Amino acid sequence: MSKNYSQADLLAIADQTLIKNYRQAPFVLARGQGAELWDVAGKRYIDMTAGIAVCGLGHNHPTFTARLAEQLTKLIHTSNLFYNDQQILAAKAIVDHSFATRVFFCNSGAEANEAALKLARRHYVNIGQPERTTIISTNGSFHGRSFATVAITGQKKYREGFGPLVEPVEFVNYGDLDAMAKALAPKKACCVIVEPIQAEGGIVVAPPGYLAGLRKLCDETDTMLIFDEVQTGMGRTGTWFGHQHDNVFPDVMTLAKGLGGGVPIGAIAVNDKAAESLAFKAGGAVLHANTFGGNPLACAAANAVFDIIDDEKLLDQVTSQGAYLGQQLDALAKEFPGHVTEARGRGLLRGLAVSGLPGDVTAKCRDRGLLLSVAGDKVVRFAPPYIVSRALIDEAVAILRGVLAEGVGKA
Ligand SMILES: *Cc1c(COP(=O)(O)O)cnc(C)c1O
Repeated sequence: MSKNYSQADLLAIADQTLIKNYRQAPFVLARGQGAELWDVAGKRYIDMTAGIAVCGLGHNHPTFTARLAEQLTKLIHTSNLFYNDQQILAAKAIVDHSFATRVFFCNSGAEANEAALKLARRHYVNIGQPERTTIISTNGSFHGRSFATVAITGQKKYREGFGPLVEPVEFVNYGDLDAMAKALAPKKACCVIVEPIQAEGGIVVAPPGYLAGLRKLCDETDTMLIFDEVQTGMGRTGTWFGHQHDNVFPDVMTLAKGLGGGVPIGAIAVNDKAAESLAFKAGGAVLHANTFGGNPLACAAANAVFDIIDDEKLLDQVTSQGAYLGQQLDALAKEFPGHVTEARGRGLLRGLAVSGLPGDVTAKCRDRGLLLSVAGDKVVRFAPPYIVSRALIDEAVAILRGVLAEGVGKA
């Protein structure tokens, strides 16, 4: 048990046992409540990360914790050899809250995007157009760290040194419908994959009309449209899914992060046309599958997330707290011209662009008890739990203001 180890002990063990692929700061989290966290040494942090837009309900939400505890006593895992009640109900919850008619479960965002890509490729094989293999993605995008998803991620640093990668992939500029039209014209593409907000890319919101334009171009060329809602989905932007702000619907939507409230789970949610692509045919092979996907524990978590967001009207909370946070960040942009270059975002997915290094800002804030993350090369990201209070937002913004006032993050 961690209580037998001091923070220094744990850091020493981490130093010897973990692959050093991450760059964690020297403290060890042990406990959370609402939008606050505590490390092993007892230091308190305001949590404006929610575990990278995952813990929408915050930490130790009483109803969520009780629902998970109850499920633990019933059933944790069955595999997909058999149905389980929680998976069926989680599929119904996604269908009831979205454009989708069918759902496939997996365990992460990368896996959800992998499933979406396989679905898209297979669709054209099934309809006798196997030459349609190109995947069209956008510069600045992020779709995951697996081989296929780094290949379609529009930021070189994620791809370099891992080749040969999945091909063919074409990148066009985010927001540029003319470039997309050109890329689609040869009818060689099986899909277009786009985030309604490029989150890891620096909280870049799709320009007005962009998603609608993509839908139109994909319809005209019979191309599968995939929205990667891994970060924007599950209420993060104030609607259940990011594309609902535009009232434009994809063929496939990928989900993960917020779906399980902190329990790992991913999914693809699709319309009837897309669902047909992976459907099992008598005498044929199972085209896509996994061991853990849709496991009853993860799906019970997703069911609780849907119920709690609905029962506690948390989408309204995201909208109002998001607007409040947005105002505070706009004020910082006015207060520190040339240093803070822009405040942007939607709902509780917000970014503050700085002229210097955003990592310097997040490091200083962390020392003062505020956890933030970096998005892209220039942006400090806010993605707090939906239950965050105005008092905590005020406290967080005051810490950030103090750090900016010292010139941190200025070029
Ligand atoms: C985080 C993220 C992914 C990858 O999800 P993992 O669960 O880390 O594999 C994919 N797409 C977007 C938009 C993301 O934010």
